[in-house]
Amino acid sequence: MFRLGAHVSISGGLHRAVEREEETGGNCGQIFVGSPRGWKVKQPDEEDAKRFRELAEKKDIKPWIVHSTYLINLATPKEELGNKSLETMQAEIDATSKLGIPYYVFHPGAHTGAGVERGIENVAERLSKLEIHDDVKVLLENTAGKGTTLGQTFGELSRMIDISDCGYEKLGVCLDTCHMYSGGYDFSTEGKLEELLDKLEKNVGLKNVHFLHLNDSKYSFASEKDEHEHIGEGKIGERGFRLFVNHKKLRDKPMVLETPVDERGFAWNISKVKEIRN
Ligand SMILES: [Zn+2]
Ligand SMILES: [Zn+2]
Repeated sequence: MFRLGAHVSISGGLHRAVEREEETGGNCGQIFVGSPRGWKVKQPDEEDAKRFRELAEKKDIKPWIVHSTYLINLATPKEELGNKSLETMQAEIDATSKLGIPYYVFHPGAHTGAGVERGIENVAERLSKLEIHDDVKVLLENTAGKGTTLGQTFGELSRMIDISDCGYEKLGVCLDTCHMYSGGYDFSTEGKLEELLDKLEKNVGLKNVHFLHLNDSKYSFASEKDEHEHIGEGKIGERGFRLFVNHKKLRDKPMVLETPVDERGFAWNISKVKEIRN
């Protein structure tokens, strides 16, 4: 079954996320459990968590994924920022488990001058300190690679996982199409997409990719800029997405949209993806 949804708000209560997903035409989804630009995470109370789980089950809207706040940085050489990041991540992972959500995704962060190697080691060492519950997989998201941001290449992502004590038992990868394209992975032709999937298989392994973020890119190929565009309306274009969402190695993975919310909104993008899906 094709699982396609969008990033929705939990304002008004966690169960509202399920209702919003249904309204946009999605059948899986992504949420933040706290403020995307804050450090504080409030644990969901038992009632709210139960209501969310039951409604998602009843409406068959799943799987869900929790996106981390944007502030965390596991690659940082700064001890204090690293510790603060770990604390917030742990709280978010605890909340993810309470909600019965199987995936949690975060951006590895920036080394801010410490060097790529040191940054990768920092991510791996800090990941090893997390308590990752058996019912949650923590996913590393690929990035566009701006500045000293790590995780632009599949090689960097797989090194972080390999060096950590967690392994693929606890960790995995979430791929963002905008970040791949602006980060230097082309999939605008069948040949290019096959090349990309070969690199992915060699470095991370396709079975370790558990979720996909579908976003077109406002900026051109390898620009390293991270700004999302409506599906088919950006530099990737309809042709690239047609190849991507239909490929036999990708089509069974759950996909969520993080496209701009303007007059088009998520419902438009969901219809667009369904239209190009074979
Ligand atoms: Zn993300
Ligand atoms: Zn992005």
